[in-house]
Amino acid sequence: MFDVNRIRQDFPILEEKIYGKPLVYLDNGATSQRPLPVIEKMTEYYLKYNSNVHRGVHYLSNVCTDANEEARRIVQRFIRAASEKEIIFTRGTTESINLIAYTYGEAFIEEGDEILVTEMEHHANIVPWQMLCERKGAILKVVPFTDKGELDKEAFGRLLTDRVKLVGVAYVSNVLGTVNPVREIIAQAHRCGAKVLIDGAQAIQHIPVDVQELDCDFFVFSAHKIYGPTGVGVLYGKEELLNQMPPWQGGGEMIREVRFEKTTYNELPFKFEAGTPDFIGIIGLGEALKYVESVGMEHFAGYEHQLLEYAMEQMKRIPGMRIFGEAACKSSVLSFAVGNIHHSDVGLLLDKMGIAVRTGQLCAEPVMQHYGVTGMVRASLAMYNTEQEIDIFCRGIEKVEKMFR
Ligand code: PLP
Repeated sequence: MFDVNRIRQDFPILEEKIYGKPLVYLDNGATSQRPLPVIEKMTEYYLKYNSNVHRGVHYLSNVCTDANEEARRIVQRFIRAASEKEIIFTRGTTESINLIAYTYGEAFIEEGDEILVTEMEHHANIVPWQMLCERKGAILKVVPFTDKGELDKEAFGRLLTDRVKLVGVAYVSNVLGTVNPVREIIAQAHRCGAKVLIDGAQAIQHIPVDVQELDCDFFVFSAHKIYGPTGVGVLYGKEELLNQMPPWQGGGEMIREVRFEKTTYNELPFKFEAGTPDFIGIIGLGEALKYVESVGMEHFAGYEHQLLEYAMEQMKRIPGMRIFGEAACKSSVLSFAVGNIHHSDVGLLLDKMGIAVRTGQLCAEPVMQHYGVTGMVRASLAMYNTEQEIDIFCRGIEKVEKMFR
């Protein structure tokens, strides 16, 4: 069974003191901490094997190339993709979405076409589509959400016409924690002939993902939110679709033959991987996914859910507490306001107590506009958080609330 105290030993940073107080790290939605096996694996590769991938004939280069490709197979296994050719390494979710907007967008979006996103998207799943629409004369449409934080299904049905070429939706909202009904959305969109991109940045670390069963056309996530390093991300795409898409960036590795008259391009996945990748980061991502597999999402997902419910219950007892997002299906994200206290004040005062939370617009200004607020405070949970930490966090908010009374 899941033993949180055992897990915490794998994350030495959790033993740190902040201003003399034990660190309570509740900013996992922004970035999670890395366990020792990830840090050790990356250190080992820097110390013993560092050498560029896919280029050398020598021993070190081959070791790194093999490990890079092994990481690709681990990702493939983790999200149940049909082929390792469908796993493209990028710098993160943001880059993955931009890649799709530029390549799928260039090839398939035409003037008057529509792209459908939701009101609860992260900026990374809004702005690349706005830029594409400007380039192509296409139209961005938005599915609203209810005050509870659930997508308006009726509006989705209305907006989903045969003019829509692509639907972009977050599996889990980074502000509201809402777990969107992506299976239904994908099936409905496919019936209208639209492709679907799932932004998995806040889902991959909490929910088992099977891209074949979901039948999504694209699925993207960042390594650093699932206990891996920064600077690495994944773009999954269906092989047939990726093959139809033109490359994005040009350079080394993405080519087959370079001639001044005409250059031809490499096969998948390398067609989309121009230049030297962050191969040690990629190896770190592979190790992070192996770590998650070894703990077992089936063990910690239930624990995380219990912790979320405990936190909601405790928070609701605090005077002036307003939680944003109470969807029936919710993951480990808790955004809130306390009375009229400015979100930055709450964050700064909690910081002095050793508690790390995120404040501000949370890269989702439309969600702020929906609720008519300038910002929020966000606590986001990971498998290593505890009820005791939630208690410290809630006592902290109570102190802040009393200070401003
Ligand atoms: N999408 C969602 C839902 C996110 O939560 C984030 C990061 O917070 C992103 C996209 C962007 O991820 P990254 O900054 O790693 O590219």
